[in-house]
Amino acid sequence: MEFGLTETQQMIQSQIRDYVLENVVGENLDWDDVDFPHDVYDDLIDMGVLGLHLPEEAGGEGFEPVTAGLVYEELGRGDVGLTMLALSENLATKIVWEHGDGHHREVAERVCAGEEHICFALTEPDQGSDARNLDTTAEPTDDGFVLSGEKTAITGATLADWGLILARETGGADDIRGYLIDLDSDGIDIQPYAGLGCEVSGWGQIFIDDVEIPAEARISEENAFKMAMRTFDKSRAWIALYALGAAQQSLDETATYLTDREAMGNPLASYQGPQFEHAEWQTRVDAARLKAYQTLWKAGEGEPHTKDAAMTKWYAPEVAVDTVRSCLVLHGHYGYSDDFGIGKRLQDVLGQQIADGAPHVQKLIVARETFGREYLSYDR
Ligand SMILES: Cc1cc2nc3c(=O)[nH]c(=O)nc-3n(C[C@H](O)[C@H](O)[C@H](O)COP(=O)(O)OP(=O)(O)OC[C@H]3O[C@@H](n4cnc5c(N)ncnc54)[C@H](O)[C@@H]3O)c2cc1C
Repeated sequence: MEFGLTETQQMIQSQIRDYVLENVVGENLDWDDVDFPHDVYDDLIDMGVLGLHLPEEAGGEGFEPVTAGLVYEELGRGDVGLTMLALSENLATKIVWEHGDGHHREVAERVCAGEEHICFALTEPDQGSDARNLDTTAEPTDDGFVLSGEKTAITGATLADWGLILARETGGADDIRGYLIDLDSDGIDIQPYAGLGCEVSGWGQIFIDDVEIPAEARISEENAFKMAMRTFDKSRAWIALYALGAAQQSLDETATYLTDREAMGNPLASYQGPQFEHAEWQTRVDAARLKAYQTLWKAGEGEPHTKDAAMTKWYAPEVAVDTVRSCLVLHGHYGYSDDFGIGKRLQDVLGQQIADGAPHVQKLIVARETFGREYLSYDR
């Protein structure tokens, strides 16, 4: 069993960490999709964060899942919303590159280079966890399709040039397909979706009103829901890791605070209450991190990892949320103020319990893999 990082992995980890600690932590309190940190995002793109999963021929880094996980974890120390945006762009381009052809691949390459941006649109107002039953339709015409429907809670929607939109193809197909749509097309209306956190991620709704698209917009005849699910098995561990990155940064800041701050004549770090609380959350963060990396290692080795991904997705963001909350309280009134940004981190990290698969559904997957499909309480 090998837990060490290679020299290259250590170098990548410290490059991202150093950048994030200097340019993101403490700088991000007012970031949103209007006051967007283009300079920081561009720097990160120059470091390769929008090409983590694309091959070198596409301009990407071609990282295996564990190394990509190290990058997401370090980015999460800085800003969870910005990391979520990068992950969603990466998931979309990976699907587009792997399943698309010439035009689609060119779009993926431009996103990888930071010239254009993309979002991944699956969720609808009436279908989230049950995304397989989506209502958006793509009706075949003589020279393409007409798309109609509504997508909601989409990361990057207000910032993106392109949308990878999943819709049910009508006509003979009756199957879910992925369509690469220029978001400036007639009939597309994008509205911001106000949320509790992650304001910088450009969270939004996409209203699709009889949008005529050419036949080439469809990226493949393969079922796009299955494509997405294959990607989710890794992305769930990446989300876990950037949530844990935020938790680790909070624990590091709290250790410093507890040694600096005195109460009743002694540093807070000398009292057993704060010591034990910090120790317990550090233990849980370390345990959750190991599960996330084990999931990614299995993915890289080509081993089954669906159950591991579901375990890490329900567990790690929950640990991260509870860790950040504990760190906030350990900072006293400063924690509750905007001075340290822990409240913002808590709001950002909370969304990660839901994004890419809410907790109960992850436990259903674990149960399905443990007991078998015949024990599912719904018809599937
Ligand atoms: C920050 C954030 C970013 C997101 N970004 C994107 C994006 O870029 N693209 C995209 O397509 N979507 C995105 N989403 C949407 C996300 O994927 C969905 O919110 C998620 O899949 C859950 O669906 P839902 O919100 O409709 O919850 P629901 O499906 O309505 O579930 C509500 C609650 O019920 C539980 N539940 C659901 N089904 C069952 C069941 N059978 N048994 C027991 N419990 C159940 C869930 O665990 C959850 O707690 C994002 C969401 C968030 C919060």
